[in-house]
Amino acid sequence: MPLKQRLLTPGPTPVPEETLLELAKPVFFHRTAEFRQLLGEVLRDLQTIFCTKNQIIPLTSSGTGALEAALVNSVPAGKKVICLIAGRFGERWKNIAKAYGIEAVVVSVPYGQAVQPEQLQKALADHPDALAVCATLSETSTGIGHDIAAFGRLAAATPAILIVDAVSGLGALECRTDDWHIDICCTGSQKALMLPPGLAFLSVSAKAWQAIERHPAPPSFYFDLKKARKSLENNDTPYTPAHTLIRGLRVSLKKILAEGIENVWKRQAKYAQAARAGFQALGLELFPAQPNNALTVVKAPPGIDSTVVLTRLEQQYGLKLANGQDTLKGKIIRLAHMGYIDQFDILAAIAGVELVLHAMGHPVEVGKGVAAAQRVFATS
Ligand SMILES: *Cc1c(COP(=O)(O)O)cnc(C)c1O
Repeated sequence: MPLKQRLLTPGPTPVPEETLLELAKPVFFHRTAEFRQLLGEVLRDLQTIFCTKNQIIPLTSSGTGALEAALVNSVPAGKKVICLIAGRFGERWKNIAKAYGIEAVVVSVPYGQAVQPEQLQKALADHPDALAVCATLSETSTGIGHDIAAFGRLAAATPAILIVDAVSGLGALECRTDDWHIDICCTGSQKALMLPPGLAFLSVSAKAWQAIERHPAPPSFYFDLKKARKSLENNDTPYTPAHTLIRGLRVSLKKILAEGIENVWKRQAKYAQAARAGFQALGLELFPAQPNNALTVVKAPPGIDSTVVLTRLEQQYGLKLANGQDTLKGKIIRLAHMGYIDQFDILAAIAGVELVLHAMGHPVEVGKGVAAAQRVFATS
């Protein structure tokens, strides 16, 4: 029997039907007044979702392209950045720095923990010559969330700019780019923005533009933010953008704006609360010490390999959740609930985990997790 598929991974995420239909329309030419108007509109809508008045730059790449563009345009080779690392995505900052000969000062915590503001305070005091601080809003590999507002207050008092990887958080979690002093805020299309992969966006503050202007020639031809800014004066892009995705994005963003970004954050918080309650009622422990609301990450029960649970969920029930990466493979289960997800997707995931654990002989009371999650949804 063909199973109904439910995509519950922390990227890519499901895309709404209206957006899929938009993506099915014929391809068009992009150097036109209509396209410039469309791009202008999408970038304005994104400003509302980023909570920023800063310019937003679209890139045709996955989310990592925005991270790379942010770093290579604002920090020259040989200069120093502070990388706050709590997982695989934090490590990516260090790896990008390394690839471009930028010196990375690493502030790290074990997987499952979050970097604390005092750690950044100390690093900034020890390295007054750091040009940037690179942080991660939602560390998708472990499920922790960082106190970006606190990082922003610290960086704002120094010459360093704050660059945030908000790829799996923006559009799901509170992220106030301007109020929190985020100088470059990066995201991708395939997480909470409800689009397939292929687009990345970053917002750039006045302080970040000064850093970029002090750095005459970024070592990248394609990811040159000054060139992108110039084209955007006419709502244009230097090279051919993934314009059919931009047309689809317009539809997904209208959905977010119709609900209101703050209401989306509240709904996400409820989803996270329900998912945590459901798993905990089954005796599964949360992995992150400071969880964020975009995804819920739990430890596999003792003696159970999460890879087996995840394979069974997919093969028997069409439920696609994510495994841990690298050293966490087989040890955790990651359920994403950002973007085009509803209560019943979460209940389905918890019900599936219950059924699989029960079938594997693990002592779970079938229905207990679902009931706990439902009780969260029942209270307003
Ligand atoms: C998904 C994700 C990225 C981007 O990865 P790409 O595969 O390049 O889109 C970056 N950071 C975080 C925290 C993510 O979750």
